[in-house]
Amino acid sequence: MRYTHDGKRRKALFVGFDGVRDDVLRALAPPAVQDLASHGRWWTTTLPDVDVAPTVTAVGWSTLLTGVWPSTHKVSGNEDEFHLLHRYPSVLTRAYSADREIRTYAAASALIFGTHYGPGPILGPGVNKLSFFDRRDYREGFSDTDPLVLDEAVRELRTGEHDLSFVYFGQADKVGHEHGVGDEYREVIGVLDDYLGRLLEAVRRRPTYDREEWLVMLSTDHGHLDEGGHGGGSWQERQSFIIAGLLSGTTDAKWREEAEPVDLAPTLMDHLAVPVDPAWGYPGTTLCS
Ligand SMILES: [Zn+2]
Repeated sequence: MRYTHDGKRRKALFVGFDGVRDDVLRALAPPAVQDLASHGRWWTTTLPDVDVAPTVTAVGWSTLLTGVWPSTHKVSGNEDEFHLLHRYPSVLTRAYSADREIRTYAAASALIFGTHYGPGPILGPGVNKLSFFDRRDYREGFSDTDPLVLDEAVRELRTGEHDLSFVYFGQADKVGHEHGVGDEYREVIGVLDDYLGRLLEAVRRRPTYDREEWLVMLSTDHGHLDEGGHGGGSWQERQSFIIAGLLSGTTDAKWREEAEPVDLAPTLMDHLAVPVDPAWGYPGTTLCS
């Protein structure tokens, strides 16, 4: 079941850009993002309003990775200690738990995803390999650690045997907080686009690429106010996006018209041919039919 009908091994990569506004990304339409979207679809999504949960990082990534809404995973802030992530773990942990032959990998430098000891609260325990850098050990935080995350992820994706991977970059959010949504913010989105391009190149240069079917997805956890900052209920903060692309373009995939953040996890599961267990409580469904 891990193979397509024509015998290709199913592989999936989820790339996370923290705090990237959909309207700004669409206006820039940088090359790697366009390349990915040209193999699939780009949806504008909207986060729940603040009566459900604030538009903050831990909430946004929890929803995307667990595939359930904040009212279910109960992550209600960045410092929340009363969440239910042990009951609603990430798509990586779900996939590995459902099928121990699915190999999972993550690369990140935010503590919500891990520590030097291993994968952290949002990712859960089912991550076979984690490339982790603690941003607190570096003067410029994510600006210093994102390139390290990229280099490791490129190496792992180019030569590793991972079936489901998550790679996270945090510097756009940092720049948004420091400078607002201006030239610096647009510039850092260009940097992240270069990173995405290098990840796509790493996948396409795999020695076994011809015998693999890759789904790559890209998303963000929240937007930003024009002056920088998020957490509230403005449309600038609630706007989000999902991009999905099948790199080989050999399938006649049909993509749904509308998407919500909770559709990302079931889309990855569908591509990996992991049946969704009703006990997981997924309110969303696959974006690809
Ligand atoms: Zn964030």
